[in-house]
Amino acid sequence: MDKAALRALPSVDRVLGAPSCAPVLRRFGRSEATAAIRAELAAIRATPAATSLPDADAIAARASAALEARHRSGLRPLFNLTGTVLHTNLGRAILAEAAVEAATAAMRDAVALEFDLATGKRGERDDHLRALLCELTGAEDATVVNNNAAAVLIALNTLGEGRQAVVSRGELIEIGGAFRMPDIMARAGVRLVEIGTTNRTHPRDYRAALGPEVGLLLKVHTSNYRIEGFTAEVGGAALAAIAREAGVPLLNDLGSGTLTDLSHHGLQREPTVREAVEEGADLVTFSGDKLLGGPQAGFIVGRRELIGAINRNPMKRALRVDKIRLAALEATLKLYRDPDRLAERLPTLGLLARRAPEIEAQARRLLDAVEQALPADIAVEAVPCRSQIGSGALPLDTLPSFALRFTAPRGRDLEAFVAALRALPRPVIGRLRDGALLLDLRCLTDEAAFLDNLAALASGHGIV
Ligand SMILES: *Cc1c(COP(=O)(O)O)cnc(C)c1O
Repeated sequence: MDKAALRALPSVDRVLGAPSCAPVLRRFGRSEATAAIRAELAAIRATPAATSLPDADAIAARASAALEARHRSGLRPLFNLTGTVLHTNLGRAILAEAAVEAATAAMRDAVALEFDLATGKRGERDDHLRALLCELTGAEDATVVNNNAAAVLIALNTLGEGRQAVVSRGELIEIGGAFRMPDIMARAGVRLVEIGTTNRTHPRDYRAALGPEVGLLLKVHTSNYRIEGFTAEVGGAALAAIAREAGVPLLNDLGSGTLTDLSHHGLQREPTVREAVEEGADLVTFSGDKLLGGPQAGFIVGRRELIGAINRNPMKRALRVDKIRLAALEATLKLYRDPDRLAERLPTLGLLARRAPEIEAQARRLLDAVEQALPADIAVEAVPCRSQIGSGALPLDTLPSFALRFTAPRGRDLEAFVAALRALPRPVIGRLRDGALLLDLRCLTDEAAFLDNLAALASGHGIV
């Protein structure tokens, strides 16, 4: 098509004036709509189709689609069917309805964040959680910061700046995302003293390291790995006794931490925060958005004077949490007062507690409808699989589950299908294994929404 023919393209004003453009203008405003139409016209001029030119309606439709794509949030909800319940890259815990409501209310209005409603005087933002955390963990005092990495950082800095922190070689963990214990220690201004060996550390190793330079003993939960075989570690109670003898504090980083006995929900038993406090740790740190099932946060509980020192550390201001998260945390923690209904109310726990037969029934129920929605070359079957808890919590405890398993005659077709699922209005994320796509149904709660969404595959909406 030559230059002269392109003159027949409608002008920006013609497209803006087309009746079909009215809803685009209403939705996105004149400025964005004009820019989008200009961009479409420029694209057509750059690579014109061989035969016909689009009319004003067609250009308005193209601009509208481009604007929809531009406005779609990268943080829109998706279906996490990876089989990892607490998936760090997919935002970890899903919050309880009570937490969502509390956070929303705090967002909409002013709240007494640092204001004491009883006296009318200034209050402290930690007061909203302090009593609750003490009640749930048995600790004397508590504070909260941005995440558990921050909790470890500020606790190390407060207890040990310019001094030594003694830690077993078997616990010098990397959590991922550049959280490596030796690096955090360096940034906290603490000198690392490694003791023992990778597989075995004894009480005498800790005792031999004690000296005037030692600021604290550190115990770290080996969240995402296990050392098995010929091993020895010093338990929390024995380590607390050594710390007490030496007159130095013991910091126990539990990582995920849990406030409830998970074996009641069919999971492996993990020591609770209360148990770590009872063992005699002076400070215990744990995450808000791992097994606890709340928003991102880091809790520090323990002895009053040490919590006081942490709160006076200028880092605290840089690491504190805002009213939205405090409101969500308070509502989440309150659910733990009623352990019997916890799995009903806390989505994370509810999903972890789902049993395989229930998930299998769901897979069989969905199979036909899913098959109907698939491209011709994709086959689906229901298969048993194993889910993971995720976020380094209980790394060896996989949960029996059920999945829809998708295969294609050629790998390229499967790749295109996986991409099409990601491009759906509500993206569907699974995991690839042995040349097949597995959608583990453990975290699928809204079947109707899932099927509705999948119907977009057939309409070509999701095909990229
Ligand atoms: C996960 C984890 C952290 C980091 O916690 P975040 O809440 O992700 O910042 C620190 N220590 C241990 C042992 C962990 O498992």
